[in-house]
Amino acid sequence: MTRVSCDCDVLVVGGGNAALCAAIAARRAGAAVLLLEAAPKSLRGGNARHSRNMRVMHDAPTPWVRGCYPADDYRADLQRVAGAAATSADGGLARRFIDASADILDWLAGNGVRFHRGTDDVLPYSRKTAFFLGGGKALVNALYATAEALGVVVRYDSAVRALHLRDGPPAVTVGDAGIAIRAGALVVASGGFQADPGWLRRQWGGAAGAVTVRGTPHATGVPLKALLEEGADPVGAADRCHVVAVDGRAPPFDGGIVTRLDGLPHGIVVDRDGRRFADEGAVVGPSRYTAWGELVAHCPGAVAFSVFDSAIAGRFRPSIFPAIQADSVGGLASALGIGPPALESTVAAFNAAVAGGGATAGIHPPKTRLAAPVTVPPFGAYPVRAGVTSTCLGVRVDGLARVLRPDGTAIDGVHAAGIIMAPNILGTGYLAGSAMTIGAVFGRIAGREAAAHALR
Ligand SMILES: Cc1cc2nc3c(=O)[nH]c(=O)nc-3n(C[C@H](O)[C@H](O)[C@H](O)COP(=O)(O)OP(=O)(O)OC[C@H]3O[C@@H](n4cnc5c(N)ncnc54)[C@H](O)[C@@H]3O)c2cc1C
Repeated sequence: MTRVSCDCDVLVVGGGNAALCAAIAARRAGAAVLLLEAAPKSLRGGNARHSRNMRVMHDAPTPWVRGCYPADDYRADLQRVAGAAATSADGGLARRFIDASADILDWLAGNGVRFHRGTDDVLPYSRKTAFFLGGGKALVNALYATAEALGVVVRYDSAVRALHLRDGPPAVTVGDAGIAIRAGALVVASGGFQADPGWLRRQWGGAAGAVTVRGTPHATGVPLKALLEEGADPVGAADRCHVVAVDGRAPPFDGGIVTRLDGLPHGIVVDRDGRRFADEGAVVGPSRYTAWGELVAHCPGAVAFSVFDSAIAGRFRPSIFPAIQADSVGGLASALGIGPPALESTVAAFNAAVAGGGATAGIHPPKTRLAAPVTVPPFGAYPVRAGVTSTCLGVRVDGLARVLRPDGTAIDGVHAAGIIMAPNILGTGYLAGSAMTIGAVFGRIAGREAAAHALR
């Protein structure tokens, strides 16, 4: 490796929410900061670009969130999804995170981010989350503008290929030319590795081609793997990821939130052989997207079809892609590539089983809620696939966002923030709105601590 000297104190790897918060915090603490973003400028901002809200504790209404969401409620929600991660020895980290979420909106607002007012009625009411005015893209643009105005040097198209942490101050190798940059301290905020095609193939085998990545194609996990090779303690699970059900026609990357499919609990859902495989009414709340993502991921070919008739179609938000339609169930089956007799017999059996009270009787699997016969033409369907949000493997950190070895010692001058360390808080679970908060809270801590380390 040819090292070139660098006049930065803090080097930030990544260009999403966590990286930007780290860069701003480090710069405000007096450090010279260089931020390396793998994406081109037009696609900067990682998955944060697609996000819309963040979950914060508050004991009283604020300009941005109504009611209150006390720390104990937040902790209970976290424990429900994260289990051991939120209650184990690292529970202290979760507590610290929740407490630090209390003023993170003020801090972000002070750095240019704008939020919907809590009294706006344009978005679903939530006492738990604040919504970004203009969405995640506006948040990302605001943070870049602030970072650059403060003097953070931003380099796009700058994928970090390797980390060098064992010999002196941290250093990274950047780009195809293999330029090496050394810094006083490092913040790694490069997200997960869901966009690594090798990982997709290992997890999904032949069905990998059916899986889409909802966000950035740049989250290939090179810095995460490098951290692990350099001795960081892994946390979370390499074979787990967060998925939701998306329209099967979504692009392979960056489809974003609009590709999510809403209506699965309303009609019936069949696999590529035309068979129902789950109780469509089992989950009807916000977790239905995840529940269906998991179910579809395990279908043959990782594909399924949401099937409904014209009476049911009016009961849910349509996909951004047009429904595939036909005047008969057999015609719909042909359009979907399913053998017509198979789908006709599934629909007939389902219709015959619809009993009173919105449930079925006498079929397996049952439909326990929202059961209505599929009889009114035209019949419609959406192809469904699993859309990956992020992976669940990260590096262990302490309360100062320092990356830890398995023996609990910190790797000198190396910090991590965002999804790359989120399993410390979430385990392999997912709590809506918490990922952006983890990025902002630990980005801020990591930037401040990295600056302190570098300037010491
Ligand atoms: C469609 C969608 C909607 C979402 N909605 C929400 C929401 O409403 N609320 C919420 O809390 N969470 C939401 N999330 C999750 C949230 O966006 C992410 O958890 C969060 O953005 C992660 O932030 P991060 O900075 O850790 O990583 P990312 O946003 O993934 O950013 C990683 C950054 O690192 C860069 N990078 C990667 N590898 C390298 C490398 N080798 N060298 C240099 N740079 C590199 C990438 O280009 C990118 O800029 C959503 C995710 C998606 C996909």
